[in-house]
Amino acid sequence: MQKNNLGYPRIGARRELKKACERYWSGKIDREELLSVAEKLRRQNWTVQQEAGIDLVPCNDFSFYDQVLDMSLSLGAIPKRYTPVLTQNRENTELDLYFAMARGYQKDGLDITAMEMTKWFDTNYHYIVPEFYKEQEFKWFSSKITEEFTEAKKAVKKTPKPVLIGPVSYLLLGKEKEEGFHRIDLLKKLLPVYVEILSELKALGAEWIQLDEPFLSLDLTEKEKEAYKTAYEAIAKACKGINIMVATYFEEPGDNTALAVSLPVSALHIDLVRAPQQLDAILEAAPESLSLSLGVVDGRNIWKNNYEKSLDYIRKAIDAIGEERLFIAPSCSLLHTPYDLDAETGIDPEIKNWLAFAKQKLGEISDLSDILEGNEGLLEENRKAIESRRISSQIHKQEVKDRVAAISEKDTTRHVGFALRQKIQKNRFGLPLYPTTTIGSFPQTTDIRRLRARLKKGELTRAEYEARIEKATIEAIRTQEKIGLDVLVHGEFERNDMVEYFGELLEGFLFTRNGWVQSYGSRCVKPPIIYGDVSRPEDMTVRWSRFAQQHTDRIVKGMLTGPVTILQWSFVRDDQARSATTFQIALAIRDEVVALEKAGISMIQIDEPAIREGLPLRKKDWPAYLNWAIGAFRIAASGVQDETQIHTHMCYSEFNDIIEHIAAMDADVITIETSRSQMELLEAFADFKYPNEIGPGVYDIHSPRVPTVEEMVTLLRKASALLPEENIWVNPDCGLKTRKWEETEAALTNMVQAAKKIREKVEQVVS
Ligand code: GLN
Ligand code: ZN
Repeated sequence: MQKNNLGYPRIGARRELKKACERYWSGKIDREELLSVAEKLRRQNWTVQQEAGIDLVPCNDFSFYDQVLDMSLSLGAIPKRYTPVLTQNRENTELDLYFAMARGYQKDGLDITAMEMTKWFDTNYHYIVPEFYKEQEFKWFSSKITEEFTEAKKAVKKTPKPVLIGPVSYLLLGKEKEEGFHRIDLLKKLLPVYVEILSELKALGAEWIQLDEPFLSLDLTEKEKEAYKTAYEAIAKACKGINIMVATYFEEPGDNTALAVSLPVSALHIDLVRAPQQLDAILEAAPESLSLSLGVVDGRNIWKNNYEKSLDYIRKAIDAIGEERLFIAPSCSLLHTPYDLDAETGIDPEIKNWLAFAKQKLGEISDLSDILEGNEGLLEENRKAIESRRISSQIHKQEVKDRVAAISEKDTTRHVGFALRQKIQKNRFGLPLYPTTTIGSFPQTTDIRRLRARLKKGELTRAEYEARIEKATIEAIRTQEKIGLDVLVHGEFERNDMVEYFGELLEGFLFTRNGWVQSYGSRCVKPPIIYGDVSRPEDMTVRWSRFAQQHTDRIVKGMLTGPVTILQWSFVRDDQARSATTFQIALAIRDEVVALEKAGISMIQIDEPAIREGLPLRKKDWPAYLNWAIGAFRIAASGVQDETQIHTHMCYSEFNDIIEHIAAMDADVITIETSRSQMELLEAFADFKYPNEIGPGVYDIHSPRVPTVEEMVTLLRKASALLPEENIWVNPDCGLKTRKWEETEAALTNMVQAAKKIREKVEQVVS
């Protein structure tokens, strides 16, 4: 049975690519040096995969920024605004054009905006969204695909397998930038370019080509289904003698199964980690001409493979269709996993024995194949590791499980409904109409970040560090008082990151030293690993909130990260439902909320910026997810008295399709991002007659620009046309940690001014 890999991480085990790209952008190294770093990384990756015995080693899975942007450049889908990048400065190359598309271009007297970026399905990887225009033309532009194939051929003995995004998914990943057409209609123009590239790959000696079609596992319209047929029939006709492998992942084809297996291609890859239930149907439906690549090793998580389980699937497939037609593979590209577990020397050996990163996952694919050939020893060793995890006292805490099991209706509801709470709270706080506040963080200056680095290195004692953070907190309080904000925050200076901070204080979490995965471009994240039952051994934020509150007469809002966001931005255990893990986190946050209340904090914000991105890929799965995700928030929020005000914050703005669930969270106040959309997104709240209080963002914190008073008044007027006045708060779109103090102060001063102006208007009307 052949061993197949779908893609490998490319940032380098020590984030070499990130560092090289950033040096290139800042002019510290030249193009030659950047290219040589990239070439070295590709060679290392190919060597590792070859040594692990992979038969189909992927190529063109490397990318300087993003594989979808690579595809746009290959297909010549380059928006016109980038033309001057090459014409204005003759020294610029294709690579500079590429980076200009990814990051924008502000040089040579040009000021060109970057292309939009969005999440790659339900991962934390972001891709650059292709832009399509009515008169869109495609032509083979960049020769990256063929160049990398030629390069890979020299590096590995077996013929490497180029990986491209398939034509239908490529179109669906993009966005129409003008009215009057549907991007799927561009297929006819797009296909000849695909045919040209595939034919050239064949001429260069390619045997297998992987075309990623993740949309084949999503909800498809009739038109999109038709497009699949058209595309693959055209390719089959024009490119005889190439073996195309269509790759699906993150879901099952499900109702698209008949379509998927009927495409005239040589192989179909399926994700048996996310969707093992599909195997029977696929085996049943697959025609004899179709081979199957079985994705049994989890490409989205860091757990050691359960060989016994994987072998069950593989053996079942062998019995059904014979091993000649089968490949063993990871469930998806290994892009979403960190490089190498061996580099983690600080992890408890017991836990380390339960994990596998990209390199170890290659080993698992090869182990599975060896076991099938009779190497039973490998199976025995794996069984032991799996069993040790199953029964480990490091994972299982009976009291945590019991507490989750005992959660009842009353734990998820406030004592009285919102209308009454609002009255009680308005009485208690006596705030003006249009109260002003911020979302939590204040600028994380280099000084602040340096403090943390020095604490880690032992150059500062804990006491010295805390004294500095206290100083920053007091300064932030004074600044907020001076600006005249109504509800203050402590500033989050003690936090490195809104998830990591809590993970480090909760039990059941583990942190790696080098477990980086690419988030977008040169940005990498190091998600915590939730390995065990989650509990809260001690207060996490009380000390800082109480400290801040002691230094002012105004209200200081407590600041927590919500359970779904903590879950969403971590590697989550796979031995229980995600909902179960979320409920455990929710109980820990609930305890913190109650502790804050006890410490005299009267407003508590529970941030849930990741609720929306957790939505399942298939609509039919939305209700179940929303049910437990919203439930988890309510568990976290419902332990307090009526007079304690719960806030939540979400930094995105598409609420239309989930507004009833947002309302079901029953937060007393929700703050959202609305400034860039000019309050358009508030309409969802207005149409729904959203009952609770809302702070629509009036200050775009993604830009260093200071908004004027007038602008913000205009936004607030729009909001007051849509919502009851007594429900409106005034705040920025999101936290201010990436901003500079100067901008922040100026913008917030204007914001307070704007609130005053709009209040005056109200008073005039009343009198
Ligand atoms: N309270 C957090 C902050 O202000 C919220 C961040 C977020 O929404 N991503 O930084
Ligand atoms: Zn936010």
